[in-house]
Amino acid sequence: MRPIRKGVKAGMSNKGNQWTACLLAGLLLTTALQGTALAAEQKGEQAEKIQQEITQVDKELQDTLQTMQDLEAELTAGMKEKEKMKGEIAALEQRIEKHREKLKERVKVMYEKGDVSFWEVLFQATDFSDFLERLQMLSMIVEQDQELIDQLRADQEQLKVTKAKLDAQQKARRAKQEELRKTEQDLQAKAKNLKGDLAEALAAPAEDQMVVEQAYQNYTGPQFIQSVAGNGSYAWPVPSSFAISSGYGMRGSEFHKGIDISAPIGTPFVAVADGVVVQAGSASGYGHWIVIDHGGGVTSVYGHMYGNGIYVSTGQTVRQGQVIGATGNDGYSTGPHLHLSMQSGGGYVNPLAFLQ
Ligand SMILES: [Zn+2]
Repeated sequence: MRPIRKGVKAGMSNKGNQWTACLLAGLLLTTALQGTALAAEQKGEQAEKIQQEITQVDKELQDTLQTMQDLEAELTAGMKEKEKMKGEIAALEQRIEKHREKLKERVKVMYEKGDVSFWEVLFQATDFSDFLERLQMLSMIVEQDQELIDQLRADQEQLKVTKAKLDAQQKARRAKQEELRKTEQDLQAKAKNLKGDLAEALAAPAEDQMVVEQAYQNYTGPQFIQSVAGNGSYAWPVPSSFAISSGYGMRGSEFHKGIDISAPIGTPFVAVADGVVVQAGSASGYGHWIVIDHGGGVTSVYGHMYGNGIYVSTGQTVRQGQVIGATGNDGYSTGPHLHLSMQSGGGYVNPLAFLQ
């Protein structure tokens, strides 16, 4: 962080006291900034570590959910398979029952009541050997019936064994599912805790930032003249006033993205550096504004003017120190002042770090 030095610029009475006040403010601010920079760095590292842990836990969670999904599919398939087997076992039972009935009927007819066709078959024998052949054939029919029943019974037994295996498999799957549910819950809880830690780690530097901004607010009242050394090469925008009525940083619940330099309505202000006007006209919140692009990703924004306080137009090239407008009291503003914002590298920066 760039060290900030404060000094008296010009045209002030009671210089000694103000110098002391500014110096004190500068020292306090420098200490606060250094402390905050260190704390912010440590917290940044901590946040990064937590973020890595979150990524890891999220990955584990994704893997667990994927495994659970696969298992769910296996359980569903297993259930369908079981239903199919149950149906097959029942169908086999029906077939066995049917063949048993048939056999029972046949045997009853053959040996108890006497079956006409059975005796007919035998009596139609042409000789004794033919008779024996026919008798054998008839008992073979009975035998085949029995064999078929035995075969069906064996198939059914086999199916029952397979189904029992499947039952055991399904039971193991359900146990695994229960285990995965617990793992998932643990991981969710872990992720939630880590996200809480991260939010805390990220929120803390903002609190520190507020302390620094508060230091600005406390020690840069309008009675003090501000000057920032550093590498600032940009011109002070209001040559006739150095009074900052509101600093860069937290202001109540919102972040003030610039500095307010109080000056009576109609006070001329200048471009802080060479550049090209990219906006000049009305803007929401600013009343009217001018935006200058200085190249290298640096832009300056001047706000709260009246429409007739804009002396430049879009596309115009301006020089550092050139008068570009006059202060007003337009837009969300509490008193006549020039609002100055500066952007660098795509974000707002404290303009004091850029100004001479
Ligand atoms: Zn402002």
